[in-house]
Amino acid sequence: MPSGSSRSRAVLVLATLNPAKGRELLALLGAVPFEIRLLADVPGARLPEETGATYADNALAKARTAAELTGALALGDDSGLEVDALDGAPGLYTARFGGPGLDDQGRRELLLERLRGVPPARRTARFRCVIALAGPARAEKVVEGVAEGVIAEAPRGSGGFGYDPVFFYPPLGRTFAELSDEEKARVSHRGLALAAARRLLTG
Ligand code: IMP
Repeated sequence: MPSGSSRSRAVLVLATLNPAKGRELLALLGAVPFEIRLLADVPGARLPEETGATYADNALAKARTAAELTGALALGDDSGLEVDALDGAPGLYTARFGGPGLDDQGRRELLLERLRGVPPARRTARFRCVIALAGPARAEKVVEGVAEGVIAEAPRGSGGFGYDPVFFYPPLGRTFAELSDEEKARVSHRGLALAAARRLLTG
C-alpha cells in the first residue's frame, strides 16, 4: 500500500481559460484534498459560450465541458450583478452590459447613468455567484453565494475589478473596491460560493 505522501491525489480542474480568474478561484477555494489544474493549461482547451437561461446552466456547462476534456472532476462558475431598480438587470448579461464596445469603466458609467436620480433606498443590488461541480463517478452539485449591497452614486476605491467601485457594501461601509482582497474574499458572492464548494469537496 502506498504511503500517504506518495499516493496521488484526485484532480480538480478549474473550468476557466482566464489565468487571472483561475488564480482567484484557486485562492478563494483554499485547501481542498485535490490536485488543482487549470483548464487553460490543457492542450485544446475550450469552453462553451455563456448562453444558458440561468447562472447554474452556464456554470454546469463549463464544468461538464472541462470534465469531458480532462476526464477529471471540474469546477465551473458564473456570476452577475442584479440591480433591483433595473428589474434584476444586467444579471446573466452583466459581462456584456452595454454591448461589446464597452470596457469595465464604460459598463460602470452606463450603470450609474441608468440609475441617475434613483434615491439610495431604491439602489439595492446583489452580486450572485454560482459554482458547479461535474465529473465522472460523482453526482453534479451546484452551490451559490450572494453579496447584498447598494449601487453607489459615484465610483470609490481602486481595488478589485468590474463593478467593484460602484458596489457599496453596507456592513463594512465601503465599496468592494475599497476592501482588501482578504476582506472581499470573506464577504463576496464568489468567496461565499467557493467556501460552500470547499465544504462539498472536503466533506
Ligand atoms: P463572470 O462570472 O466572470 O462571467 O462575470 C460576469 C460579470 O460580472 C463580469 O462583467 C464581471 O465584471 C462582473 N463581476 C463578477 N464578479 C464581480 C466582482 O466580484 N466584482 C465586480 N464585478 C464582478
